Amino acid sequence: MSELLKQLQRRRTFAIISHPDAGKTTLTEKLLLFGGAIQMAGTVKGRKAAHHATSDWMDMEKERGISVTSSVMQFPYGDGIVNLLDTPGHEDFSEDTYRTLTAVDSALMVIDVAKGVESRTIKLMEVCRMRDTPILTFVNKLDREGRDALDILDEIEEVLEIQCAPVTWPIGMGKRLKGVFDLRTETTHLFSATHGGKIKSGELIVGLDNPRLNEVLGDMADELREEIELVRGASHALDLDAYARGELTPVFFGSAINNFGVKELLDAFVEYAPAPRPRETRQRLVDPSDEKFSGFIFKIQANMDPSHRDRIAFMRVCSGSYTKGMKMRHVRIGKTVQISNAITFQADERRHVEEAWPGDIIGLHNHGTIQIGDTFTEGEELKYEGIPYFAPELFRRVVLKDPLRLKALQKGVLQLCEEGATQVFRPLKNNDLILGAVGVLQFEVAAHRLKGEYGVEAIVEAVSVSTARWVVCKDAKMLEQFKVKAHENLALDGDDQLVYLAPTRVNLSLAEERWPDIQFLATREL
Ligand code: GDP
Repeated sequence: MSELLKQLQRRRTFAIISHPDAGKTTLTEKLLLFGGAIQMAGTVKGRKAAHHATSDWMDMEKERGISVTSSVMQFPYGDGIVNLLDTPGHEDFSEDTYRTLTAVDSALMVIDVAKGVESRTIKLMEVCRMRDTPILTFVNKLDREGRDALDILDEIEEVLEIQCAPVTWPIGMGKRLKGVFDLRTETTHLFSATHGGKIKSGELIVGLDNPRLNEVLGDMADELREEIELVRGASHALDLDAYARGELTPVFFGSAINNFGVKELLDAFVEYAPAPRPRETRQRLVDPSDEKFSGFIFKIQANMDPSHRDRIAFMRVCSGSYTKGMKMRHVRIGKTVQISNAITFQADERRHVEEAWPGDIIGLHNHGTIQIGDTFTEGEELKYEGIPYFAPELFRRVVLKDPLRLKALQKGVLQLCEEGATQVFRPLKNNDLILGAVGVLQFEVAAHRLKGEYGVEAIVEAVSVSTARWVVCKDAKMLEQFKVKAHENLALDGDDQLVYLAPTRVNLSLAEERWPDIQFLATREL
């Protein structure tokens, strides 16, 4: 077998999707603990506060070196190499989350046993469904009183429209939690609380008829036997093909904080989750085993490390391999670049990567030429598809306190917008800079960073824009007419694409009616 095939088959690249507070951070820590990347555990926890308060988030921003390493975590597990891509927890960062989900091969869904399916999980599932991403499910917090396990499965099936195949089953819950039963191996794994950083596992009892079960579970042993019979009859069998198609999710139960049920999950994950899969480009389907290198950028983060003051573009390797010093074609700008200092994310320090394989994420230093969605190849004209920009719903004008700093402001704004969390619009009619975002926190962050990183004191103020649409028209003449008539409402985005800024929804509807041959697009695919 070729080295490429061997390496790519070891790779598992995934993200955790969940509603805030379900236990994503805790589970991540435990996964890293099992993966032997223990020093990362504290890092993840430290970042945690960022999910909740603006001020904390900004403080964390100062420690950018930390947040970048934890946004991609690579660790070995058994024979496998696991790449875990973190998705920002805050509602405001959903665009970044969506794009991150385009870079994974599968996802792990965490559900709080007391709360069941929550709003953000529903949204994230919708995104996963666009690419039929295979999903594994972990029902968390069994050490607390929650809902009946069958109830939870029903809810997942109904609300998320995906079949459930339980792989482990809880024995008791809350104070009565005794363990989980593994339906594949007929093994009972007894619960023992292990707070903190230790890996300790409870007793394993093989066989459902094992008399030892009666000794430790008492009356619950027979209850378990009956329940398992019921569960086997009532739920879907584990069908890995259906899992691979995104139609069925294998379900695990446990308690992340107690490190319980996590090993079962990770073992199964490495076994079931898909290795890097073929991907669509505008030109053709690219197989990861293609010898020629290719990859795309799904995220850009600026000034991550104050001592480096640079921007890093995150690239998912899709085919072939990266080796240090190789030449790549940056397809959009048609240039060949030599990459000798890509970074990898194996520990909580930056390390220069010697090689990377399909499924891996590498970080490229970006001096302003790389954009989200860009494809890199070994020469072929390819364009990876499906990395979206969404029309923002919130808009603010950036106003300088010191007008002489205009140049610095423009530079800062354009660079921040390259990261994709905020977008910039420059009206054709004047020199305003209008920021658009999906969440209001983004504006504060932008102002804070303009000051901290570019030395520009700016405030953001209300502006009468309620929504934006990218404007496309096949008929060049018609487009010219439109540009004249709608001049007042038109702007250019950070990539010089034409955008219609609508003061009201009604105004947008009227414009759409009046110009039936003009397309008003709510997303721009890169
Ligand atoms: P995230 O917002 O999804 O990243 O959630 P966290 O991992 O930060 O967890 C949210 C809260 O739930 C924290 O207070 C955790 O300590 C707690 N938590 C996580 N896992 C468990 C668990 O298995 N049992 C209990 N009782 N609490 C948990």
